[in-house]
Amino acid sequence: MTSNVARETIDVTLGERSYPVWIGRGLLDDRARWRAALRGRHALVISNRTVAPLYLERVAQGLGDLQWSSFLLEDGETHKTFAHVGNALEALAMLGATRDACVIALGGGVVGDLAGFTAACWMRGIDFIQMPTTLLAMVDSSVGGKTGVNLPAGKNLVGAFHQPRAVVADIGTLDSLPEREYRAGLAEVIKGAAIGDAVFFEWLERQAQALARRDESTLIQAIAAKVRYKAGVVARDETEQGERALLNLGHTFGHALETAGRYTTLLHGEGVAVGMLLAARLSERLGMSAQADTLRLQGLLKAAGLPTGVPPGFEAERLLALMRLDKKNTAGALRLILWRGIGRAEIVSGVDEADVLAVLREAIA
Ligand code: NAD
Ligand code: MG
Repeated sequence: MTSNVARETIDVTLGERSYPVWIGRGLLDDRARWRAALRGRHALVISNRTVAPLYLERVAQGLGDLQWSSFLLEDGETHKTFAHVGNALEALAMLGATRDACVIALGGGVVGDLAGFTAACWMRGIDFIQMPTTLLAMVDSSVGGKTGVNLPAGKNLVGAFHQPRAVVADIGTLDSLPEREYRAGLAEVIKGAAIGDAVFFEWLERQAQALARRDESTLIQAIAAKVRYKAGVVARDETEQGERALLNLGHTFGHALETAGRYTTLLHGEGVAVGMLLAARLSERLGMSAQADTLRLQGLLKAAGLPTGVPPGFEAERLLALMRLDKKNTAGALRLILWRGIGRAEIVSGVDEADVLAVLREAIA
């Protein structure tokens, strides 16, 4: 992974539901390529009011001869709701969309999750294409077929597995992405390496500066490596019966941090960064891993411009209480993704809450 790379294609291999992930600059304008993934005469583009003014026109250029319309959300996680799925379905009805219609998701993970779920619901499932415009969506949410929305009772409580027909990751769209969102996406890149690929981790350590300044060839290679890793996991365990749960490294801690900060203190990727580090410290405490690994993870997160400490004002007991609510838990015991060092994550059940609390207290002190 050193030469100059301008484009990458990764295949997600799922039998007849297999699909390509195209990564490169200018792909939105490569219409012949993504148009081939549309089968019928109807398309609904779902986007939001931040992204649509920037990129919808370029997608529209490729849809000229079809019957299509757009459905735009207000910006933000609070709009990833069931009510808006209903509105998007109404938009498909208005369009007269048939079973061969296609939903196109143009935006970050919020748009992608809602659009994918809309596609899963219309006539019990129609095609959709992901056009991710955040780094997080390119390396994580657009690949793997998890779709859904939030309820007042919690995030992502309603959803379906529904794989896209293609993923069009035009990295040119990242030019307008705010720096903080970009770095939050890097956390999910680092996560992939930390879970299952020590060679990729070493490469990231060497490329940290280039990635931080968004060197294009390095970025394409990093996105491709993370997507390749995730695609492999998804191909082996599409519906999360086992291995796919490893992708949640740092997420139980991270979600608790996000929730405790009322989703305004930390972005998801920032919560995952701190959460991975806490998971590494807990692993160390349980004798599963060495301090040297924790320190390397900390160093890489820092180099990527990510937070590595719990923000001020957070309480250990409150965080533990939030961690108990995690979807991954079975009744009564904490089930966490921990690691045996770089590239070797593991699912660990029955983790003693006292150890979790000790790690949280140490991080807050
Ligand atoms: P997001 O979709 O809210 O996008 C972040 C911000 O960037 C938003 O304000 C958005 O309008 C803006 N934006 C998007 N593209 C832009 C661009 N090119 N230029 C300028 N601004 C742009 O957040 P996200 O981090 O992309 O995704 C988070 C969501 O993804 C969460 O809802 C999470 O649950 C979900 N998610 C899903 C999966 C999955 O497997 N389905 C995995 C990870 C995360
Ligand atoms: Mg995540």
